[in-house]
Amino acid sequence: MNKNELIFCPLGGSGEIGGNMNLYAYGNESNQKWIIVDTGVSFADDSIPGVDLIYPDPGYIIDKKDDLLGIVLTHAHEDHIGAISHIWPDLKCNIYATPFTAVLIKEKFKEKKIDITSKIKIVKLNGTVKLGPFEIEFVNLTHSILEPNGLCIKTPSGTILHTGDWKVDPNPLIGDKINEKKLREIGKGKVLAMICDSTNIFYPGRAGSEADVRDSLLKIMSLKAKRIVLTSFASNVARMESVFYCADKIGRHVSLVGRSMNRIFKAARQCGYLKNIKDPLDPRDAKKIPREKIIYLCTGSQGEPMGAMKRIIKDIHPDVYIEKGDTVIFSSKIIPGNEKKLYSLHNDIVKKGVELITEETDFVHVSGHPNREDLKDMYNWVKPDSIIPVHGEHRHMNEHIKFAKEMQVPHALRIEDGDVVKIFPGEHPKIIDKAPSGRMYLDGNVAVGENSQSIKERRSLSLNGYLEITLILNNSGKLNKPVISYRGIPENSLGEKIIFEMEDEIFNTCRTFSMKNKNQEKNLIETVKQNCRKLIKDKTGKKPFTNINIARL
Ligand SMILES: [Zn+2]
Ligand SMILES: [Zn+2]
Repeated sequence: MNKNELIFCPLGGSGEIGGNMNLYAYGNESNQKWIIVDTGVSFADDSIPGVDLIYPDPGYIIDKKDDLLGIVLTHAHEDHIGAISHIWPDLKCNIYATPFTAVLIKEKFKEKKIDITSKIKIVKLNGTVKLGPFEIEFVNLTHSILEPNGLCIKTPSGTILHTGDWKVDPNPLIGDKINEKKLREIGKGKVLAMICDSTNIFYPGRAGSEADVRDSLLKIMSLKAKRIVLTSFASNVARMESVFYCADKIGRHVSLVGRSMNRIFKAARQCGYLKNIKDPLDPRDAKKIPREKIIYLCTGSQGEPMGAMKRIIKDIHPDVYIEKGDTVIFSSKIIPGNEKKLYSLHNDIVKKGVELITEETDFVHVSGHPNREDLKDMYNWVKPDSIIPVHGEHRHMNEHIKFAKEMQVPHALRIEDGDVVKIFPGEHPKIIDKAPSGRMYLDGNVAVGENSQSIKERRSLSLNGYLEITLILNNSGKLNKPVISYRGIPENSLGEKIIFEMEDEIFNTCRTFSMKNKNQEKNLIETVKQNCRKLIKDKTGKKPFTNINIARL
């Protein structure tokens, strides 16, 4: 009965794109050891006002921290490392990462004033880490960032391949090609399960190569006579290098604009990349150069409010501006959900008489995730006994299951965050339990739960406005004129009238309570609140967030 089990449990990233966090466990009831693979974030939309970052609730693994052997990171995209400095303080375990990823997570801890040096264990490319019953081989893949790793996780009961994010790029420009040899070698043994990227399952063919984007960008940029402003994901260092390459070919300088562009550039250089390119110009110096001699490489490819691109287009960037005849290139994907803000930015560019080039008009971007032909390669190399799609919404994972069946994979399992999957023993992986899972919101500096009062209140405030009433009672319990103030309630000509009617309402309500009796205070507050909200609702259609105070003189 006390047989060793191999368990997989995603806490984030299965049933959603973003916030990846996966657990693996090995052992038996009396001795079970855990590892975490990735601790990522996703980004909040307007439905959660004031919140920027969302990450998986780590409670389940915090409870097991004494049996936690470490956090293993596949690559440095925010959806895989973004939560590390928020989650780690409750775990205090070692962190395993390749050099480029390690540099970027060190910065995150530095921002939180945590000295993480002794806890980060740097793994060399294609290196191996032994953690208790787990022997983890890092396998170099190709993606849209430096040093993307698949993890071949070997245990005494069998092997799992956790792909992380990847595609097959025959010419990734920086870093090695995908380690096909190693993947084929892994496939020669029995792979109990492949936990695999589902992002691009709906796309036929191949994701494409960074080298092809470089050729296309060179053709496009060589025809431009004036200023070129290009935006892409800062973390795509190959794309960054392509911009320097093109600039050199067409006799221009590159200037990096935006904090994360400079941050990634520095991190890449620190790890020995980008050695053979000319130094970028500071945007302040770039101003002195004729506009046909410069390419600005900026952050803000998703139209982020504080991104360099938006600030340039809105004419509020201190050092960079665009004018008629210039060209703006979005060398990036329009991430679903961002269409509205991006198209509004695109419209502003066109209105300025600036040429706009995007993935919709020209070949200026390739995805970092596997299309179906890429997936076929991986399946043929690894020959897994079962497939568990992750890194996708339910619709992606469902389609990935169908694809796995077409590929004759014997077993495929659709899961979601919190599912506890027994991979071994048994004929095939099976969901055996549900772990508590959910999301944490980073609200300012404070991590709060999904149902947090602060967010509920702010959502209500932002939609309905705010009403505050203070009832002032003198020492004989008589009500003075109440103090009424409100924000965010539409009023036009009603303004004063509403106040008068509310005062009448409050006096009438108070008359039905004995104002001397403190025990009735709670009921009084509740009744005044309800009646005043109803009055505002009748007059304006809004039901404001309402606060009633009682002050006794
Ligand atoms: Zn990812
Ligand atoms: Zn990624």
